[in-house]
Amino acid sequence: MLIVMRSGATEEEIQKVVSVIREMGYQARPMPGAQRTAVGLVGNDGHVESSRLEGLAGVQEVIHVSKPYKQVSREWKPENTVIRLAGGVTIGGTDVAVIAGPCSVESERQILDTARHVREAGAVILRGGAFKPRTSPYSFQGLGRPGLKLLAKAREETGLLVCTEAMDPDGVGWVSEVADIVQIGARNMQNFSLLRAAGRAGKPVLLKRGIAATITELLLSAEYLLAEGNHDVILCERGVRGFDPTTRYLFDLSAIPVVQKLSHLPIIADPSHGTGLREKVIPMARAAVAAGADGIIIEVHTNPEEARSDGAQSLFPDQFVQLMREVRVIAEVTGRRMAEPAPVGA
Ligand code: PEP
Ligand code: MN
Repeated sequence: MLIVMRSGATEEEIQKVVSVIREMGYQARPMPGAQRTAVGLVGNDGHVESSRLEGLAGVQEVIHVSKPYKQVSREWKPENTVIRLAGGVTIGGTDVAVIAGPCSVESERQILDTARHVREAGAVILRGGAFKPRTSPYSFQGLGRPGLKLLAKAREETGLLVCTEAMDPDGVGWVSEVADIVQIGARNMQNFSLLRAAGRAGKPVLLKRGIAATITELLLSAEYLLAEGNHDVILCERGVRGFDPTTRYLFDLSAIPVVQKLSHLPIIADPSHGTGLREKVIPMARAAVAAGADGIIIEVHTNPEEARSDGAQSLFPDQFVQLMREVRVIAEVTGRRMAEPAPVGA
């Protein structure tokens, strides 16, 4: 529930609303705005009797949020959330941000070379997992903490920001020391203790849609992060399990406008995992930007044939250059522009 105060409501009137919400057994979240303040009521799992709040001085209206997710919904916050990262990079505004890099961090040379290539081509954020969620316990599991050090080095050398995955609550601490964005992978979308830890990490979070998750479930998982106080959440459509093995997943591009209607949070798209096939990544990246994605995340490898994970969907550096050239045109047609890299050392 959202209690909207009249413009010009006094601090005492706002504080009275806050204390009545607390007396009713809920939590209050004052949200000062340009025109007026609203006070969010959270902690309810059903209808809240609002008459006591409606009668308080300074209250203009009480809005019942009809969705099960509250702080994530557009009813709660009508304007888009814009995530502000180091070096002036934003996600969720006019810019389309490109995150690119290998599936996994494999070696110093591999991550540095890839970082230089993707930066040269126009990416603003480097991706690469140091901790990898793999279907088989015998597959490469990532370099772990040494992999994080390599990402930090790549950030230092190229100025690219870093997006990398945390797989468990302990890992969130290590990852957030290095990462500009902490990724929560598809398989962990409903790992609630991980979500709570990431909600307290103090770093923006990239939350990927689970392979069998509905959009409501995705938004409820995001609600865990906001409920812990982390409002810098980026959603990611990465494909869901379909019935047709022709592509690795069914890349649900309609999720982009659907989420944008339901939520104020930015949403980006991952055509690499969404298709699983290198030659399908460029057309689907174009389609994602055309559909209004706030960014794309692309797997790129200097030598995909030798990649230790997801080589079949990783672009060669030249293909990534082509992708950037093409999505740039589409971004402009849709009234947007490609995000510019942060200066080195930002
Ligand atoms: C990844 O980004 O490499 C990854 C494992 O993604 P997802 O969680 O979407 O499968
Ligand atoms: Mn991958």
